[in-house]
Amino acid sequence: MLGLSLDKNMINAAVLSDNGEVLFDYQISTPADSYRDCLIAICNAFTAMQTEAPSYRPAGIALPGVVLNNIMQNSPLSWLNDKAIKQDLQASLGRDVVIGGYGNCFTLYEALYGAGRDAETVFGMHIDANCTGGLVAGGRSLSGANGIAGNWAHLPLPAPIPYELDGHACWCGRTGCLETFISAEGFEQDYYKITEIRSSTAAIASAATNSDIVAESALQVLEDRLGRVTAALITLVDPEVIVVGGMVGTIERIYRTVPRKWPGYVTVRDPVTRLLPAKGGEFSAAAGAAILANV
Ligand SMILES: [Zn+2]
Repeated sequence: MLGLSLDKNMINAAVLSDNGEVLFDYQISTPADSYRDCLIAICNAFTAMQTEAPSYRPAGIALPGVVLNNIMQNSPLSWLNDKAIKQDLQASLGRDVVIGGYGNCFTLYEALYGAGRDAETVFGMHIDANCTGGLVAGGRSLSGANGIAGNWAHLPLPAPIPYELDGHACWCGRTGCLETFISAEGFEQDYYKITEIRSSTAAIASAATNSDIVAESALQVLEDRLGRVTAALITLVDPEVIVVGGMVGTIERIYRTVPRKWPGYVTVRDPVTRLLPAKGGEFSAAAGAAILANV
């Protein structure tokens, strides 16, 4: 099975065995702001996969945003919006293509073969430069009536404190969206406001581990916000597992610190939901897209 994912920074592609094993992977930076260059890069990725493992089954492609009436909508990559991307990809690749939401594909792989494989209900949070999500129940990805099930990123931050109500304009046109607070870019921007130093999510988390008080403070704010949003998701969906991917998902301590926030926000005394790191690394969404195209 062949799958590919595209987000703001990377194109990841994976050849997947029928039992969920990644047999071959391929990675290249996403061409900036060019639909044509993006189609070419995707074609090159499929050429590499086809050379490695010839397959004529439908190809799965995970994209940020939603395809409704064959048109791309609501994508943080503005140059993808309003494009008939499925038709264009089928013409470019010469094969059937199934498009899935990035977060849905990420969650599907993690629910079937990754961190949530022993759970009945899995909620996925992919927290990177942008944020996406998905919901899998009984091994099935739920896309919803509008194709946006599980897309938590543009809900408002729950239980905001007064200073969190100011600003935070989002690319989607609203203000105060969760993505602007807890995405890797949001976290890095918070750190910059305090220090006037540009630093990566991984570097800030590492500095916190090494007793940098400012980094520690920024990380504690992020953890509290993650606590509020995951508590809200538990209240609404009550999944057995919440799986976290992307750059923020690689911060090891959040899996200990964030569940400690839940008792103050969740209405049951001892929530048993497990918060777990994704197992598929950068290739979960590509692998999930391959599965989606072949069910
Ligand atoms: Zn938004």
